[in-house]
Amino acid sequence: MITTKEDYLESLRTLGLKVYYKGALVSDITSHPGILPHINAAAKTYEMALQPEYEDLLTARSHLSGKRISRFTHIHQNIDDLIKKVQMLRLIAHETGSCFQRCVGFDGINAVYMTTYDIDQRYGTDYHARFVRYLRYLQDENFILVGGMTDPKGDRSKSPSEQADPDLFTRVVERRAEGIVLRGAKAHQTGAANSHEILVMPTQALRPGDEPYAVTCAVPLNAKGVVLIFGRQTNEERKFDSRIDAGNPEYGMVGGEALVIFDDVFVPWERVFMCGEIDFAGILVERFATMHRQNYGGCKGGVADVLIGACALAAEYQGTLRASHIRDKLAEMMHLAETIYAGSIACSAMGYKTPSGAYYPDPVLANCTKHNVSRHIYEIARLAHDIAGGIIATLPYEQDLRSTEIGRLVEKYLAGVAGVSTENRIKVLRLIETMTGGTALVESMHGAGSPQAQKVMYQRLGKLDMKIRMAKKLAGIND
Ligand code: SF4
Repeated sequence: MITTKEDYLESLRTLGLKVYYKGALVSDITSHPGILPHINAAAKTYEMALQPEYEDLLTARSHLSGKRISRFTHIHQNIDDLIKKVQMLRLIAHETGSCFQRCVGFDGINAVYMTTYDIDQRYGTDYHARFVRYLRYLQDENFILVGGMTDPKGDRSKSPSEQADPDLFTRVVERRAEGIVLRGAKAHQTGAANSHEILVMPTQALRPGDEPYAVTCAVPLNAKGVVLIFGRQTNEERKFDSRIDAGNPEYGMVGGEALVIFDDVFVPWERVFMCGEIDFAGILVERFATMHRQNYGGCKGGVADVLIGACALAAEYQGTLRASHIRDKLAEMMHLAETIYAGSIACSAMGYKTPSGAYYPDPVLANCTKHNVSRHIYEIARLAHDIAGGIIATLPYEQDLRSTEIGRLVEKYLAGVAGVSTENRIKVLRLIETMTGGTALVESMHGAGSPQAQKVMYQRLGKLDMKIRMAKKLAGIND
């Protein structure tokens, strides 16, 4: 069982994942400078769970075993669990300033728990009992599970079975007496290179003819045929040769996403939780997406808190903190951060019990929260750039600061207020740059689904008919 950060690192060393980084197979991910920051962020979920002051948020009582378990492996038993999830995410983000990855698998297990129960009710299958056995194993081992949903999708105007290459959506290519053979890929998989297992789920609603794509199963990431290709991130190579220029050197910029490929991977039936039930694919996708969208005001709210603090510090170092327009911008940033957090708390507070017994957040409010994140985080970043100044785009290299020839010139001409070191000023400016650039922003837009996916949910669940009826009634229209 994994308890400490050291346990986690050791488990990754022995796992032997096939991870490719910049075209080369990585021999030890725990010592790779491009992957280690993401490992550190995920490790925070183990470290904080051991701190007594965080135990209530970071752990929970398993409804299966009665044992104290990581909250990331827990099935929500009530509204309090839903709220604590959001509080936990904001808290951890304060420590990492970036994604810590484990929520995707967390949302996956909750979505699959509810949906396997419903499939069994309709078809008399035994998926739920299988999944509960798997869940106990996951809870007991305290593994990190990737929530594997997004397929590459190829030509998006075509369904899975209409694609020129049928593998562009993950599918079952063979059913055997002992299990299935899986082929395909999952894209943008948060934390995949430093996780233990992946929970494969369909990527969208399916229709007749798409049965091989209606598959949910758990696959160890070191299974034969699994290949991971690490995604390139903005400025990631700064972590190779510098601490200051990396901005947030201990942790990743986002979640360390990877393309996970299943090259004919065998999965025993015991680990298969949906196989061909196309009518439940869309339901599972919607549940997973709702629960991941619930999170975004928590983790992004927490990341925004760090960024707001960095902006205030930069302003202090530059002598502008007392300026009224700076204080106004900081207040605006706080308003936006609290707004997204309020959305996550609201959808949790308005959650309800599903037939499986697991609790589920209000889907309209959860989608609205993520939608606000895709706007507000950009606005928070815009205000951060405004406060920090153009210097975040023109700072010299750390090596210039360290240079025996020109270091003193960098010290002299990049100095801020008296008493603050130039190095500290550069550090906080680099942190702002890291938290507001490239990959970090795109993650707020497309993580947990693009804004259009949220609009589809309003169209489905936004009760437009009811709204029209209300308008007609007040206007006196009786047709
Ligand atoms: Fe968790 Fe946020 Fe990362 Fe998603 S983006 S895995 S919710 S920390």
